[in-house]
Amino acid sequence: MNLLKKELSYFCNKIYKNGFSPGTSGNVSIRKNNSIFITSSGLSFEEINEKNISTITINGISLDKDNKPSSEKFMHTQIYEIRPDITAIIHIHSPKIAAFATSDANINTPILAETIIHLGNIPKAPYAMPSSDELAINVANCCKENNVVFMANHGAVVLGKTLREAYYQLETLQAACETFIWANLIGNAQKLPKEKVDELIELKKRLKL
Ligand code: 13P
Ligand code: ZN
Repeated sequence: MNLLKKELSYFCNKIYKNGFSPGTSGNVSIRKNNSIFITSSGLSFEEINEKNISTITINGISLDKDNKPSSEKFMHTQIYEIRPDITAIIHIHSPKIAAFATSDANINTPILAETIIHLGNIPKAPYAMPSSDELAINVANCCKENNVVFMANHGAVVLGKTLREAYYQLETLQAACETFIWANLIGNAQKLPKEKVDELIELKKRLKL
């Protein structure tokens, strides 16, 4: 158990250092069987360590009295229920990613091969109040077939079979957002034609990505 808390704090500190979690925004969890280790509410990811991580059941019931679990715990439990194949969830609002959650600019415009192969078609969950049951349900529904989901006017969630996998998907998402912003600032972003996009989708299937 302590090893999982260690892993969770390592990645939270890394998320903070790399600018993905301004202020006290975001939350991260790891599931092990029927227990979930989740960041505590209102802490900066810079401050996360093995002692201030909360433990909850798969139904969201708090198992330790010293730490208050993230206010988005229901979103995490709903996602784990819908996706028994994943064991880690990262929710962040880094400005470059949150910009796409707030804008109608279409990140799925096919300009970068990497985005098509590694992120696929990224859906956007409809807005609902942060920490609400409605938000949890909206986001979980979009996670049925996607490991990367924008949350309208809020941020994004990234899921993984491991926390390491989720973290590197997060870096890929941030790179995709940044490239889209730069390409559109420079102007004349060149869209890939449909047959090239189809080829990349085939490659993704073949490589089982
Ligand atoms: P918590 O600090 O309660 O996890 O909330 C942060 C957040 O991002 C809410 O959406
Ligand atoms: Zn949030």
